[in-house]
Amino acid sequence: MNLNFFFSTLLAAFLINVSANGQALQLKESYVVLGNDTVFVQKYDSPLGANGYCLIHVHENETASLEAGFRMLLKYGGSLVTLRHSPPGSVNRNIQFTIQKTLFEFDPNRIFSKDTAILNKTLSGKSNDVAIRDSALAVVQQLADVILKEIEPFPNWVALHNNKNTPAKWAVSGKEVEFEAESYSIVSYIKKFDEASESSLSASDVYVNPVINNSEFFIVTSPMDFDAIQQKRFNVVLQNDKPIEDGSLSVFAYGKGKRYINSEAKHGKVEEQYGMLELLHQVLTQKVD
Ligand SMILES: [Zn+2]
Repeated sequence: MNLNFFFSTLLAAFLINVSANGQALQLKESYVVLGNDTVFVQKYDSPLGANGYCLIHVHENETASLEAGFRMLLKYGGSLVTLRHSPPGSVNRNIQFTIQKTLFEFDPNRIFSKDTAILNKTLSGKSNDVAIRDSALAVVQQLADVILKEIEPFPNWVALHNNKNTPAKWAVSGKEVEFEAESYSIVSYIKKFDEASESSLSASDVYVNPVINNSEFFIVTSPMDFDAIQQKRFNVVLQNDKPIEDGSLSVFAYGKGKRYINSEAKHGKVEEQYGMLELLHQVLTQKVD
């Protein structure tokens, strides 16, 4: 497996310069080969230098959060890691790849676990061939390792995400009518109708400011960060000390003792997300007496 790792991963990490607003962001790109497909792991460093935290963007279609992240790098310094895997001109949340005609798909925010049972749950794709299934699992683990190699040197991790923010509804597509549940938001962390959910079971505290939309919120792993964000009257969820192991970066970060903050905003809300990241920058860089 290690040999395979060396042959199929990374290999060409190289440096190029990306120019934005007259300032150069430095890009280091690694890649992981997944069967017939390739995922690029890009790390951008600000010309203004390090600021103690890394922005992490794993869902390619969540472009508002990526744009807000780049703006942060240009104003406040720091680093950003993002993934590229779709053909030019398209962006997709999940990553698809093919091994010997079997199509696999996974959510790149469900791969940060050493537990094969969790990775198996993450990876959709049917193959009766154990060898194909095993090599699919191995390349997904390689991708997680390459991402973690880039972010592990940072003590503080800030994940960037966008959500749909849609109510429960009947969705019509052709002759098919399907019920779509309410989309993920800060409300997902509140126990409803006496029914606990994975989200509500993973939270120990929630602060909601009634004037802020339910799509904009932070998830934090430290009570100190929860208090600091609540004092600024912004929506925030405190993940508890027994989060459900689901392969997500937040749960992995907690296990590793990393200071982790997830920044969630609705798709397209670049300004709102940038404002959230500015607020968070104050929290992350303020001196503690
Ligand atoms: Zn996301």
